[in-house]
Formats: sequence, C-alpha cells, structure tokens
Amino acid sequence: MPDNFSELARAAKSAPVDAASLATDLRRNVRGEVRFDDGTRALYATDGSNYRQVPIGVVLPRDDEDVIAAISLARKYGAPILCRGGGTSLAGQCCNVAVVLDMSKYMATILDVDPVQRLARVQPGVILDHLRNAAEKRHSRSLHDRRHDRQQLLRRPLRYGRQD
Ligand SMILES: Cc1cc2nc3c(=O)[nH]c(=O)nc-3n(C[C@H](O)[C@H](O)[C@H](O)COP(=O)(O)OP(=O)(O)OC[C@H]3O[C@@H](n4cnc5c(N)ncnc54)[C@H](O)[C@@H]3O)c2cc1C
Repeated sequence: MPDNFSELARAAKSAPVDAASLATDLRRNVRGEVRFDDGTRALYATDGSNYRQVPIGVVLPRDDEDVIAAISLARKYGAPILCRGGGTSLAGQCCNVAVVLDMSKYMATILDVDPVQRLARVQPGVILDHLRNAAEKRHSRSLHDRRHDRQQLLRRPLRYGRQD
C-alpha cells in the first residue's frame, strides 16, 4: 500500500472501480437516492465550466448517516468522492471520475439562525439566498452579500463554519 499522497492519488486513478458492486452496496446502505445510470452520469459530468468528467455514479444522501455510509463504502471500493452543491464552479471543481455526493435535494435545511451572534447552522445543500431570506426575517443582517450567486450553495461539509 503506497504511503504518500501522490502515490495514493496515482493508484486511485489507475485502479478500476467495481461500480456495479459499489452501486449495489450503496443501495443496501443508503436511504437516499443512488443513481449509477448513464443519463444521470451524463447530467453530472459538467458544472459551470467547460470541463467534462463522467462520474462513477451519484448519491443524493438524505442525512448525515447516508453521507457517512457513502463515504465509507467509497473507501472500501477505492472510489474517489466529490461533493456537489449548486454545480456553478467555473474551473471544473465539481466534476470528476468519482462518486458524486449531491447535497442539494435532501440536505438543504436551515437548522438555526442566531441574529444576536450572527451565526447560522445549515445543512450543506442550503442555497445562499434561502439563508439570506431566513436571516432577514429574523432581523439579522445578511450573512453574506454577494449579489451574483443566487443559486450557489454554502460550501460547508458536515462541520459548520462561520460565513462572514
Ligand atoms: C455567473 C457566475 C459568476 C461568478 N462570479 C464569481 C465572483 O465574482 N467571485 C467568485 O469568487 N466566484 C464567482 N463565481 C464562482 C462561484 O463563487 C462558485 O462557482 C461558487 O462558490 C460555487 O458554489 P456551488 O455551491 O455551486 O459549489 P459547487 O460548484 O457545487 O462546488 C464547488 C466546490 O466545493 C466543493 N463542495 C461542494 N459542496 C461541498 C460540501 N458540502 N462539502 C465539501 N465540499 C463541497 C465541490 O466539490 C467543489 O470542489 C461565479 C460563478 C458563476 C456561475
């Protein structure tokens, strides 16, 4: 087993992934959607950029446990993983030959907005404008005020951070 990062990355790229078995295992262990069909893979092959990389398959997790299960199965099968939010990246950041975890369908809940501390806890699929609206309803200043990015999601993994 290679022990440095570049060797690991090379090994991961060259090793074939048993996609059919991985899909079967994912379907047994994930409550959300597991999509390994050609149509879905084509849909997720691009983002806001000109790059094109056909993913191994796509998982739409329903909750944290689904994310953990999907990641541990991807590890078991030696498949790279890639999280996807709004897919608006301009340099191919969210397309790759990987298992794509799309958080935007089921994991898009605003958990808590604290206007006093100006803190919010959100799931990773929340759309920025939805959080902004929720913050404004609670008389909080917008947590983030870039006008162009209406469909972008907050890029946060399961540990939540501060959005200044
Ligand atoms: C019209 C347009 C104008 C833009 N203008 C600007 C600009 O002025 N300034 C600027 O800085 N940017 C600009 N951008 C780029 C924009 O900021 C990024 O595309 C955006 O932040 C990506 O957000 P997203 O939710 O679509 O993430 P995605 O494109 O889905 O993902 C972006 C990256 O984050 C990772 N990621 C996604 N979700 C998670 C997660 N839950 N956990 C861990 N990693 C995750 C992905 O793997 C990927 O690497 C522009 C984009 C567009 C389309």
